[in-house]
Amino acid sequence: MFVRELTDSITTLRGVGKRLAENYANLGIANIGDLLLFAPRAYEDRSQLVPLKGLESGTYANTIVEVISKSYFGGGKKRTLKVMVRDISGEGDAKAALLCFGRNFLERVFRVGSHFYLYGQFQQNFHELQSSQFEMLPLRADGSLPGNFGKLLPIYPLSGELTQRIIRRDVSSVLDSNRNFSDELPREIMERHGLIPMDDAIRKLHHPKSLFEAREAQRTLGFIELFYLLLMTRRRSGTTVTDTVSISFHFSELQKKFISQLPFDLTKDQHTVLREICSELGQAASMNRLLQGDVGSGKTLVAWISALQVIGAGGQVAFMAPTELLARQHAEKAAQWLEPLGIRLAFLTGSVTGKSRRLLLEALSHGKIDIIIGTHALFSSEVQFNRLRYIIIDEQHRFGVAQRVSLLQKGQAPDVLMMTATPIPRTLALTVFGDLNISTIRTMPKGRLPITTYLVANESRQRMYSAIGVEFSRGHQAYFVYPRIDDKGESTLRDVESMFSLLSSKMYPGVPAALIHSRLPEEEKVSILTRFRNKELSYLVSTSVVEVGIDIPNATCMIIEHAERFGLSALHQLRGRVGRSDLQSYCFLVYEANLSEDAKKRIMVMKESNDGFHIAEQDLQIRGPGEVAGTRQSGFLKLRFASLTEDFDQIEAAKNEVDALLATDSGLVDLAHSTVREVLLKAPPFEDKDMEI
Ligand code: ADP
Ligand code: MG
Repeated sequence: MFVRELTDSITTLRGVGKRLAENYANLGIANIGDLLLFAPRAYEDRSQLVPLKGLESGTYANTIVEVISKSYFGGGKKRTLKVMVRDISGEGDAKAALLCFGRNFLERVFRVGSHFYLYGQFQQNFHELQSSQFEMLPLRADGSLPGNFGKLLPIYPLSGELTQRIIRRDVSSVLDSNRNFSDELPREIMERHGLIPMDDAIRKLHHPKSLFEAREAQRTLGFIELFYLLLMTRRRSGTTVTDTVSISFHFSELQKKFISQLPFDLTKDQHTVLREICSELGQAASMNRLLQGDVGSGKTLVAWISALQVIGAGGQVAFMAPTELLARQHAEKAAQWLEPLGIRLAFLTGSVTGKSRRLLLEALSHGKIDIIIGTHALFSSEVQFNRLRYIIIDEQHRFGVAQRVSLLQKGQAPDVLMMTATPIPRTLALTVFGDLNISTIRTMPKGRLPITTYLVANESRQRMYSAIGVEFSRGHQAYFVYPRIDDKGESTLRDVESMFSLLSSKMYPGVPAALIHSRLPEEEKVSILTRFRNKELSYLVSTSVVEVGIDIPNATCMIIEHAERFGLSALHQLRGRVGRSDLQSYCFLVYEANLSEDAKKRIMVMKESNDGFHIAEQDLQIRGPGEVAGTRQSGFLKLRFASLTEDFDQIEAAKNEVDALLATDSGLVDLAHSTVREVLLKAPPFEDKDMEI
């Protein structure tokens, strides 16, 4: 059986009700097959015995102990059970204390003299080894160790009420009740690349006996993933359209009219890329083009102008943005610019519901809409076009490959323009996307001043506050960005809520401001941004929700706290929110003491360069934060098992296999429905989530 055939809903598992099903859905898991392809983000290593003797503070013990005594400390409600244990694994007889906060009921379980398997993190406190986070399981009747010992336990990304225990339970139950998952690739390919059978890969992914096995599983699944990614993105040879444009090209009347009414002139680069795009749009073969240009370089405008060509020829255009906020901003701009030309626009996101949604979809399918702007809601199967000819994807790196592919399937080979401010290094782009054509805007619109970037040590923030105060008095605006929403948890990171109250009461009393983050309802976010745009607010205190695409020219200051925690591309995107007019703009990167080497390199790159291309190359060289095993994410494409920036050999190998296959035609039919392909197609799109770190 293929993993993809496990289409039973996740709710068919015992103990999974509506609530947990929703939590699973947030992780992109709808059925039990999805669950099997859910990659752990790390593993907890319980494969080796780690006795208490010589245990370093902060590390984990994995051993067998005997309970030697019990006592209580604290009084009243805080009265807490303390259990002393002695290591009996044979590796010394060190003692340790287990503090059972809120778990006094354990007194009955931990009988003096009885033996337990113990796993826990220990601290050296008051000359005593102590743990308050531990797991104790009685030895089995025959004296053997319970199930978790000797294993590597998977640690999964969580959502809502899901816990590791629940996910492990559910994964095990699916693995136990299904045998022999079929292979996804032809035998010869697997042998050539030393891949393990699918059944082994799935089992070792969740229940590896060693890190080696876990890696083996990831390597196999990663290869399959790359294989299908490349199968979907590389085109057959022979359909290549060259980068150099020889055909003579003229703007249509509609385009001319639009351009002539703009309050500014197009830049030279905007002209160049428009020639490239529009002449390819005019050809029979469908376009597959990437438009790259730094934040604020005027890509969106280019996209609208190119769309006019398709509309003039009777086609429909889909414009897709990664978040509702951005989609709305684009829709507003389009309404202002395009509606006067008689272009019929529509805006579709998840929050357009009921009757208006129905009417909108009807109009779309009858061809009464020229441009539809939206989020990934444009992918849902209810969205039918009349003659979709052109798809524009903004901030393309935010979408999975899959979403693009499923949109492609809606039109007859529509032309595609992907836009990105996170440039893909050309070599990588060519490998992954084959003959994808690239248009680049390198120059900024006239009059833009380079942003001045200051590095601010945490203790010298006062001068920064004063400088920003001066900007306020000039009527300019600012963004303050923090990595957390509130101060829950032990984190010492500055957060949006506490800093908002500090800024508004101490630093800038009387200066109008608002706080914005992903937990706010959509309407509220929209209304705050509208007020900010109308200059009713002087500054926003926010999480990285402002990272993507927000365009407010009067904002001149970007303050990023804990800058050392952000990756280079995020920093560059954030900084790109300012410097969007002819005003001088400033970026303040506030950092903590004791920077790691990589963090130091990252913020130095930011200080020295405003060039998105340079920064992207540096980003590849310096590892960004958040690159933990399992959540492998490069700046522009999110994969589950493979890494586009590390697995070069795998990419090359998969590419060769795919090209060989594309050259012959045979074999493609069998592969058309691979599980991994389906998973790619279903991968949840980027969410408008804050980056909390
Ligand atoms: P991008 O999508 O590349 O980040 P936008 O298309 O959003 O950039 O453009 C940023 C801002 O610059 C917008 O306010 C836009 O109206 C303006 N703009 C675009 N092209 C020009 C130009 N040639 N001259 C002046 N301003 C421009
Ligand atoms: Mg943009």
